[in-house]
Amino acid sequence: MALIVQKYGGTSVGSLARIRRVAEKVMAAKREGHDIVVVVSAMSGDTDRLVDLAYGITAEPNPREYSMLVSTGEQVSMALLAMCLIGQGCPAVSLTGGQAGIVTDSLYHKARILKIDNGPIQDLLAKGNIVIVAGFQGMDAEGQITTLGRGGSDTTAVALAAMLEADECQIYTDVDGVYTADPRVVPEARRLPRITFEEMLEMAGVGAKVLHKRAVEIAGKLKAPLRVLSSFEDGPGTLITFEERSMDKPVEQPIVSGIAFNRNEAKLTIMNVPDRPGIAAAILSPIGKANIDVDMIVQNISVEGGTDFTFTVHREEYDKAHSILSAIAKEIGATEVRGNQKIAKISLVGVGMRTNSGVAQKMFTILGEEGINIQLISTSEIKVSVVIDEKYMELGVRALHAGFGLGVELKEEFDPSLEQVVSKKIANFD
Ligand code: ADP
Ligand code: ASP
Ligand code: MG
Repeated sequence: MALIVQKYGGTSVGSLARIRRVAEKVMAAKREGHDIVVVVSAMSGDTDRLVDLAYGITAEPNPREYSMLVSTGEQVSMALLAMCLIGQGCPAVSLTGGQAGIVTDSLYHKARILKIDNGPIQDLLAKGNIVIVAGFQGMDAEGQITTLGRGGSDTTAVALAAMLEADECQIYTDVDGVYTADPRVVPEARRLPRITFEEMLEMAGVGAKVLHKRAVEIAGKLKAPLRVLSSFEDGPGTLITFEERSMDKPVEQPIVSGIAFNRNEAKLTIMNVPDRPGIAAAILSPIGKANIDVDMIVQNISVEGGTDFTFTVHREEYDKAHSILSAIAKEIGATEVRGNQKIAKISLVGVGMRTNSGVAQKMFTILGEEGINIQLISTSEIKVSVVIDEKYMELGVRALHAGFGLGVELKEEFDPSLEQVVSKKIANFD
């Protein structure tokens, strides 16, 4: 008997018929003798609708009330699934994040899970119930409802799996695994039988929304076994593995494992900043204090004591960042703030880059041959990212996918059933 955490995304619970189908899958796993904890997302489109309602009533929704509102989507789907299971004679109980013992910090719309009290879920499992938990939400120490950021139901599932020492956390979604690139944009993309945590973390961080970045972070830190599978068809999906283990069974390692892209960023440049020590901190500290995450940062060489300083932020936070930056510009004597919201970031990810140079150069050549101009570049050990004009994003992604041969089948297919990952209970998530 195993303990399995299954997470079903928005499309998977998108209609009553689909919720019935999820109930069938859950009951099938239960019949095999396993304890099952299910995490559900809101029915597809519901969270978007709730966010639109919030911004329809006011341009700056109160953070507490925003979380109060958008957390309700998951409560609809969890209760419907529980009703469906109970109606079929299968004991089931749905729980909000707070009822499930999920304690977060107090950053309402992008809260982080701090700890989970396993008691409520374990008691219900011991009584033979299927426990259904609302994804994407928790409760802070004061008992206020918080939400984990868009896509956060994955994080709920992985955190629960880690804390309950589950044998596997299964993320059921509308694709049958993690692909070399989003299959909606690159039809030739190929399912990866496995991907390392490190690569998955980078992919999620640069826009592959198939997994929430924080979910991968927790899975890596707490060694929670994680798999992405289709809700609609049977198959092995993609196992997220530890690099060291995959080295035991050598397979031909591609240099680039995947391509991700992101249209959600905007670029800001503060022009002609006096080039002196402390200037980067003077610009970015107020941005950080406003809880705006900064992604790429580029500072040019100064000409006659003045330099340009460019960074990217989430597009939703562009207006806020722009007004903060305009105030800073006046204070520090910069001449102008320029912004561009029509950008896209494309990233290549692969642990193979560690031992192979020339990936960035090949990437720039391929983009250049397509006539695509690169505005910003950043690299890490296993990633190269570029910012380009958003209208060339699809063209760039497809050209790179073909240029790096990602559509080509690997010689040796990995058997995911061989991989055993040990889960470890750690009380604190940070
Ligand atoms: P869910 O609602 O189940 O959480 P999401 O929409 O959040 O599903 O994530 C699944 C989607 O992620 C897919 O439909 C696909 O378009 C997108 N996606 C982006 N990059 C990838 C990738 N590399 N592999 C698979 N899917 C990807
Ligand atoms: N329902 C939330 C969202 O749409 C959380 C999730 O689905 O993961 O972002
Ligand atoms: Mg998702």
